[in-house]
Amino acid sequence: MTMTSPLLPNFFAGRWQTGQGAGTPLFDPVLGTELARVSNAGIDLAEGFTFAREQGGAALRALSYGQRAALLAQIVEVLQAHRDDYYAIATANSGTVAKDSGVDIDGGLFTLGYYAKQGAALGDATLLLDGQRIRMAKDPAFQTQHIQVPTQGVALFINAFNFPSWGLWEKAAPALLSGVPVIVKPATATAWLTQRMVKDVVDAGILPPGALSVICGSSAGLMNALQPFDVLSFTGSAETARIIRSHPAVSERSVRCNIEADSLNSALLAPSASADSQAFQLLVSEVVREMTVKSGQKCTAIRRIFVPRALYKAAAMAIGAKLSKTTVGNPRSDTVRMGALVSQEQKASVLAGLAQLKAEADVLFDGNSAALVDADGTSACVAPVLLGTETPMAAQVLHAVEVFGPVATLMPYDDIAQAFAMVRRGEGSLVCSVYSEDPAFTALAATELASSHGRVHAISPDVAALHSGHGNVMPMSLHGGPGRAGGGEELGGLRALNFYHRRSAVQGSTLALDALAARGVTLPL
Ligand code: NAP
Repeated sequence: MTMTSPLLPNFFAGRWQTGQGAGTPLFDPVLGTELARVSNAGIDLAEGFTFAREQGGAALRALSYGQRAALLAQIVEVLQAHRDDYYAIATANSGTVAKDSGVDIDGGLFTLGYYAKQGAALGDATLLLDGQRIRMAKDPAFQTQHIQVPTQGVALFINAFNFPSWGLWEKAAPALLSGVPVIVKPATATAWLTQRMVKDVVDAGILPPGALSVICGSSAGLMNALQPFDVLSFTGSAETARIIRSHPAVSERSVRCNIEADSLNSALLAPSASADSQAFQLLVSEVVREMTVKSGQKCTAIRRIFVPRALYKAAAMAIGAKLSKTTVGNPRSDTVRMGALVSQEQKASVLAGLAQLKAEADVLFDGNSAALVDADGTSACVAPVLLGTETPMAAQVLHAVEVFGPVATLMPYDDIAQAFAMVRRGEGSLVCSVYSEDPAFTALAATELASSHGRVHAISPDVAALHSGHGNVMPMSLHGGPGRAGGGEELGGLRALNFYHRRSAVQGSTLALDALAARGVTLPL
């Protein structure tokens, strides 16, 4: 007799509700064992959205920014107390080594803690003052004050599989701080960790009813429940993003929508670098880190590496030599540095993507010839692969296909204008890192690349030991990117609150605007 795993209940409409039917199973990507099931079949979606919108929204808006920030701080405490359980879930369901689980789990807690602190400084205010008053006429008694108030709807998060913790909290922290209730729909493959974290927060009784809900399983019908004042934050593939953008909730009901999608992020070595320069070493270390952290399943991971043509072979050798030290296999083994991809589906997708890239590139290093540690070919483990082409200007697929795994492509450039042009062929990315010892070059590169990247990570030897990493998304810096990357914006410190607020121009007398100002605070950006 086959044992089926338990169905994870959804917290929706203020109560725990178990979906009908057998549900969809979640697996251990290394051992292949079934861990849990998810379903929301038979659950009244409209009821849950109305409950969150009306009960959760009203209760959160009755609090000040400072009071809501204090709730975030309490959430951090509760999550800290259960950290070990989250690591165990991540090992089993995401197949990650502890360090990689930490990027998701501790990254989420750090982001929550950051917003708790920033929010506390906003004190008793209940609205945001946006800029100075502007005179409407000669007589100064009648003026305009722009304000921002929390939207009176829900924030629906449709999240990707690679960050079940961080993906929830990096969105929920600014939403809850803004006074907007959250409904999270985690990606099915790794929904367990998100569900468990919400459960711990609900059990602790920190938030008012309706402020935080989790609905696992199918996305069917979720977007139909959205109304004009709701907002939707989506993270995932460009393909699903297209469906979301064309849904009537967005196209007809003007639901505000933030999209974080695919990205072919780049690393660029300055033209003046030599093979024994620190800039070269910094690029090599970062490329290896980015290819292997979370098995390359980071939306911000380096996918394309641009070096001066004279350094192509040296870069290939140096990156390959470091990659060869990456032991791959069962994350429970102490000797393993890199675990698995999250699922068999992802393994198939990475192998198919690799085959596509190989049509235009040579294999410069392939870790898959080494044996896996404590795992076999039936697991979802894939070792790092470095590809390269000496004719990158002629390539198409290499600039267009994101392989969501431990894969990157090395490309030489002949002059810096050509390098910038090739970086931009990613058609909009989340991040580009630049490695240079010349501040003037870094400033030039940042100016050239800023319009096509949400973040430019500019690394020189003086920040070698300080920098936060190409792929690490820090709450104080913007996360998002134009074009292919989805056109979204998240984080960026308190800028993140904008998405969850509505701006309005209040035209009135000085006295009325004084009374309004007493309720507000200007964001210290
Ligand atoms: P995905 O297949 O697009 O799924 C993302 C989410 O959308 C999941 O929760 C999924 O639910 C849901 N979904 C699927 N079909 C839907 C539909 N028709 N309507 C509404 N929701 C739907 O993406 P993924 O494979 O999980 O994620 C990998 C991709 O995400 C990569 O391309 C990566 O670059 C991107 N990503 C981007 C960022 C960023 O910040 N820019 C961060 C992380 C990942 P189910 O799981 O139940 O199908």
